Amino acid sequence: MEIDINECLKIMLGNKEEQLADYARRFPEDEFPGRFPVQNLKYNVTTRFSSLSPEAYRLMHTNIPWVSNGIDYDVSASGIPSPCCYFDKSKQCFTMRFSENFFAYIWCASYFYLLGVEHLSQVVNGCTDALSVITDRMLERGEYLMRWAMSELPKKDSVWPADFPSPMPTAGLEDNECSYCGNANHIAVNAMIFILYHEFTHAYFQDCPGVDALEQERRADRLAVQLCLHPEALGNVKDSGLLLSILIGFSSLFHISPIEEALKGDGIHPSLLERIDSVIEGFESDRHISREALRNIKVAQCAIYMFLCRFLGIYYPHSRLDGMDENETMEEYKKILLEAYL
Ligand SMILES: [Zn+2]
Repeated sequence: MEIDINECLKIMLGNKEEQLADYARRFPEDEFPGRFPVQNLKYNVTTRFSSLSPEAYRLMHTNIPWVSNGIDYDVSASGIPSPCCYFDKSKQCFTMRFSENFFAYIWCASYFYLLGVEHLSQVVNGCTDALSVITDRMLERGEYLMRWAMSELPKKDSVWPADFPSPMPTAGLEDNECSYCGNANHIAVNAMIFILYHEFTHAYFQDCPGVDALEQERRADRLAVQLCLHPEALGNVKDSGLLLSILIGFSSLFHISPIEEALKGDGIHPSLLERIDSVIEGFESDRHISREALRNIKVAQCAIYMFLCRFLGIYYPHSRLDGMDENETMEEYKKILLEAYL
């Protein structure tokens, strides 16, 4: 059962109390347990896992019957544990698990990066649609939400900030925030799917920790991208948001691992930049990917990198942007980025 996550434009004009009552009716607590509003999207993840890519569905059901169709949604996790695929002794099969905390974190990252990527496009091309204009205030609040996710989500009694962008927005947000919440839902769900495909690939190859860990991670990344971008899967996706989702999936460890590890690799996963670069190379050699899609992912890649730098207050020269060194400023970086976009 997937819920309709495109209702946010209507919500902008509604009555907040009625909306809250409506959510409570549509998402009863016994069926949608959890602390954060992402709980209402959990079936979108589990349903879309199979329906996004028929190839993933086929692999799962015909080639490896020992992987169950079950995907556990863990509402009792502490911290921000990464999704995993594990052997369930009681069911005698592999199953996947992702936690509410991790999904909530992915949603905040999706919103934050979506705003960044769209804002970049508006800076370059202008924006004629009054309902889509991204204001500085919205960018600031997006950044606040991201910082909240990193520091507060792991705490036991944290509460989603009531008047901030949310997977289930209510009227009364700032400017056009509501209209971006619906897109962030799609992006967050697909980012989770990408991460689950990565975990599924480990199970498919029966990867064991310790042996060729780096090569196993590269293979899991490559296969997860191929499953997401399989021609049949692309047919199921209406916009290029999927590409942004993949990048957010890649970047996800960046915020919850120590920065040094994320930049240089933690001994198991390759570094963030290496992961992104190897995927871009995969795209370039794939005839199914259109020029426009490739351009979109490069733009998103640049924008994500730029926002990472700004957000974390760090600078790390990116291998794909020639001519930069550590002494150059963010403004110069932005100029090169905008030229690449144009
Ligand atoms: Zn992995």
